[in-house]
Amino acid sequence: MKIAIAREAIEVGERRVALVPATIQRLVQADWHFLVEAKAGEGSYISDQEYSDAGAAVVADRAELWGHADVILKVAPPSRAEVEQMRPGTALISFLNPLGDPELIQTLAARQITAFSMELIPRTSRAQSMDALSSQAGIAGYKAVLLGAAALPKFFPMLTTAAGTIRPAKVFVMGAGVAGLQAIATARRLGAIVEAFDIRPAVKEEVQSLGAKFVDIDLGEDTVAEGGYAKEVSEAARAKTQAVLSDRIAQADVVITTAQVPGKRAPILVTTAMVEGMQPGSVIVDLAANQGGNCEVTEPGKDINYHGITIIGPTNLPSSMPVHASQLYAKNVATLLQYLIKDNALNLDFEDDIVDATCVTHGGEIRNERVKSALNIEAQV
Ligand code: NAD
Repeated sequence: MKIAIAREAIEVGERRVALVPATIQRLVQADWHFLVEAKAGEGSYISDQEYSDAGAAVVADRAELWGHADVILKVAPPSRAEVEQMRPGTALISFLNPLGDPELIQTLAARQITAFSMELIPRTSRAQSMDALSSQAGIAGYKAVLLGAAALPKFFPMLTTAAGTIRPAKVFVMGAGVAGLQAIATARRLGAIVEAFDIRPAVKEEVQSLGAKFVDIDLGEDTVAEGGYAKEVSEAARAKTQAVLSDRIAQADVVITTAQVPGKRAPILVTTAMVEGMQPGSVIVDLAANQGGNCEVTEPGKDINYHGITIIGPTNLPSSMPVHASQLYAKNVATLLQYLIKDNALNLDFEDDIVDATCVTHGGEIRNERVKSALNIEAQV
């Protein structure tokens, strides 16, 4: 089995790498050969020599590497040009943004690639160590707070000094999933007073156990979809939250928004009017910038100043912490690889929930019904 690790496009902002030397060292065995594209680790400060020392072969020529690989491992979704470079029949494991870019999945199917989408790993305890959405969201939540603290013209902690007492900063976290919970924990460690809101009432206890206050709003409808994810809320429920959220946002020094609904545009939680109601100098960090943003004013990929409020719209925070992001992603990918490969071949048991959910293309077909419906391809009955 030849397993290739691709060099990501650092020039377009992806610094992570799919496998790190320590993981390769644990995986190398008689039948598994690792081929690493030269400089694949550069963005994560890993040299080609470290990959060689771990037992991988470093290959300078991508055409040679991808031409020989049985499995290609990546972090960012491949470009269309990269798909063209893949040999039909190759397996690909990567983030693929299947619901955001279903045409890519169509291209992979047409190229006869057996593609596994890291976004589609089920959120079950059995698949927990493969869950790259969680490992990377935790990084984003942590870094969002650091960005917010750095942009805030105030301290986070309470300080008692000879020159007077400084009040602690107030942080409001909207969306208490994996990223939001890590943001709460990080803001608490920096000494801020933290409040959080989520439409899933189940997270209340988790929020409180991290030392934050949960902003409780009874929406009067079911907000939890399959797999524990949030549903899109109705207009009536949204209107119900507006007054309370406006008030909490106006009181906050830093607002961190993380709310997402899989496959949909991120819900708008912070309207332009709410931004205008904040104190000048306050900061919003919008972790949903990639999905259209939770704040109406957010510009994805930019830091802007609107009426004295700083609005940060990062699109790939895990890549800004590539050493640990790659280490954790590598563990997720390695666990999936070990799960998929049996007797030196891919074991495509579609009766298995992890394989079934994650494998989006095989044998020229798109296997995911939501991707098909996004492409207007008739779903199988
Ligand atoms: P996500 O990134 O899809 O969304 C982030 C948060 O935004 C979620 O908590 C969601 O409820 C919230 N949200 C959505 N719409 C909102 C709105 N209008 N207002 C406020 N908040 C809103 O979520 P995620 O962090 O990927 O996690 C989703 C779920 O998966 C959670 O229930 C989590 O507990 C579960 N999960 C399970 C496992 C596991 O069992 N292995 C692992 C990770 C996550």
